[in-house]
Amino acid sequence: MLYQSLVDVYVRLAGTSKRLEKTNVLSGFLSQVSEDDAERVILLLQGLVFPVWDERRLGVAEKLVLRAISKATGKSAEAVEQVWKTSGDLGDAAAACVQAKTQAVLYSGELSVGKVFANLQQVASFTGDGTVDNKVGLIAELLTSATPVQARYVIRTALGDLRIGLGDGTMRDATVWSCFAARLGLTYDASENDFQLTPEQRQQYDRVVDAVQFAYDRTTDFASVLSAARKGEDSLRSMKIVVGKPLKVMLYQKASTIGEAFEVVDRPASVEYKYDGFRLQIHKKREEVFLFTRRLENVTAQFPDVADRARSCISAREAIVEAEIVGFDLATGKYLPFQNISVRIQRKYDIQETAAKYPVHIVLFDLIVVEGRDCTLLPYKDRIELLTHAVAQSREFHLAERITTDDEQEATQFYVKSLSVGNEGVMLKRLDSPYQPGSRVGFGVKVKAVMDAVDVVIVGAEWGEGKRSAWLSSFEIACRHGDQFLTIGRVGTGFKEKAEEGTTFADLTEALKPHVRAQKGREVAVAPAVVIEVAYEEIQASPSYSAEFALRFPRFIRLRPDRRPEDVTTLDDIRELYSHQRGK
Ligand code: ATP
Repeated sequence: MLYQSLVDVYVRLAGTSKRLEKTNVLSGFLSQVSEDDAERVILLLQGLVFPVWDERRLGVAEKLVLRAISKATGKSAEAVEQVWKTSGDLGDAAAACVQAKTQAVLYSGELSVGKVFANLQQVASFTGDGTVDNKVGLIAELLTSATPVQARYVIRTALGDLRIGLGDGTMRDATVWSCFAARLGLTYDASENDFQLTPEQRQQYDRVVDAVQFAYDRTTDFASVLSAARKGEDSLRSMKIVVGKPLKVMLYQKASTIGEAFEVVDRPASVEYKYDGFRLQIHKKREEVFLFTRRLENVTAQFPDVADRARSCISAREAIVEAEIVGFDLATGKYLPFQNISVRIQRKYDIQETAAKYPVHIVLFDLIVVEGRDCTLLPYKDRIELLTHAVAQSREFHLAERITTDDEQEATQFYVKSLSVGNEGVMLKRLDSPYQPGSRVGFGVKVKAVMDAVDVVIVGAEWGEGKRSAWLSSFEIACRHGDQFLTIGRVGTGFKEKAEEGTTFADLTEALKPHVRAQKGREVAVAPAVVIEVAYEEIQASPSYSAEFALRFPRFIRLRPDRRPEDVTTLDDIRELYSHQRGK
C-alpha cells in the first residue's frame, strides 16, 4: 500500500473533531486494507510501529530528528531549528523543509507503508557505537522520498506524537462499521453527522459493538480484532486471552463509606487491604515472565526483581495474575507511598541499583488464567482459591490481606487497620463476580481516606516568575471527552521544594519539555501526554474552561506515569462527581 493512502486518512482524521465523521473516514479506509497490510496499517494509525506491549522503543529525540531533516534536505541543523521554532512542531518543520528543497523537483510519490514501517522498526534495533548516525540515516532516507505532508507524518510517528485525535473508541466503532454496516443496514448521513437505525437494528448494532470491545479488551490488538470481525461475531466472541500479551484490566468503582460499598457488592464480601503501589499484570509461561502496567506497557526489564520472584514463586507452569507492587521500607518495615517507587517504571539505566534502592513487595489480588484455563468467568472466590494453589507465598510475594465478612463494624475495623499500616484504604469485592476486562464495573469497590482526587492530563503550562522563572509553574489540566481533552482548571500547588520530598516544579518541567508544542510569551501549549493526580475541594460549573466545570482549590498529588492520557477522568465522570457532591 502506498504511504500516501494512509497519509490521506491522517489528514482527514486530523481535519475533523466530529467523532462520527472520523469513524466514517476510518471505516471506509479499513474496508480497503488487505489482511497482509492490516497489522502495519493499524499500528501506524495508532501512531506506533510496535504494539504498546512490545519492549522495543524507537528512542528518537528532537535533536536526532533535526539532524535527519538536515541530512535529507541539505539545510543546516541551525536553519532547521529556526523553522521548528517558527512552526512550533517538528512534523510541520519537516514538511516545510522538504517543500523548500523540492520545489523544483517532482516527488517520486512512491513511498510505501511497508518501507516507512520497516525503516522505523529498524530504528529501534541499534545499540552502541554509531546508533545515532544509523537512526538519522534511516529517517533521512524516508524524508528523501517523502512529499511534504508525508514528511510531517513520518516525523510525528518517529516522535510518537501523531496528533490525529484517534482514540480506542473510534477505532472500535470504525471496525464495526467497516465489517458490519451492510448487514446492520447502517448508513452514515454526512450532512446530519448521524446515522439512523430502527430499534431492532440498534440492538444488533450495540451487540456487535460489545463483541468488538470484548475481543479488544482480551487481546488489546486491533489488527487481530479486525481480522476476527471480518469473519463474524462468533469469531470475535471466541478470541482468547494469550499468555505473554496484556489484556485490559478490570477497574473498580468508588464508595464513600463501607456501608455504601456493601450495598454495591452485597454481603458477605471479600474486604481487602488497598495497597498504595501500582498495578502489574504478571504473565508466566514456563520460564518466561512478562510484566505489564495498567497502560499495557511492557516493564519486564525495569523490574528484574519482580520477574525473578514471579518465576520462582508462581508454581503453575502458565498463569496470568494481577498484583499491586508496593514500595517497602526495610528500615521501618512499613509500606512506602507510591511516589517512592514510581521512578522505577520509566527507568532505563542502573536498573539493578534502582531495584536495590527501592525494594518492593508483590501483593497478588486476582487470577485470570492458569494452566491454559481462562478463569474470567469463574466467581471471584474461586479465582482466589485457585490463586492460593498457583503460588508459593512468602513475605515479599503474597496474596492481599483479606477477610470475608457481612459485618460493617468488622469491615470498618479492618479498614482502620489497613490505614494504620500505611495503606490507602480497602477494597470490597463481590464473591460471585466474574472478571470483566476493560470495564469499571461494580464487582469491586474502593474505599479510600482521601476521596476527592482525579487523574487529569496536562495540556498547557506557564513559565514561573522571579525565582521560579526557570520552571513551568502553573499547569492547565484537562479531562477527556471522546477523543478530545477539555480543560478543567489550573494547578500550581502541591509541589515539593526538594527532590527527595517528592515531585518538584523542575521534575514536572523536565517531564513536559518533550511535549511542548508551541510557546507564546510565558504560555506554553503542551501535547496531552503527562498524567497527574489532582486533589480538589469541590467541582463547580464554570464557563472559564472548555469542560464547563472547574476544580476548586486543585492541588497536585503525584505524577501518574502508569496512566495514558486516554485513561484520565472523563467528562462523564466529572458530571457524575459533580452531581453526587454533598448538597447537590
Ligand atoms: P486509584 O487511583 O484509586 O488507585 P485506580 O484508578 O488506579 O484507582 P481503580 O480500579 O479505581 O484504579 O482502583 C483500584 C486500584 O487499587 C487497582 O488498580 C490496584 O492498582 C490497586 N489495589 C491495591 N490493592 C488492591 C486489591 N487488594 N485489590 C484490587 N486492587 C488493589
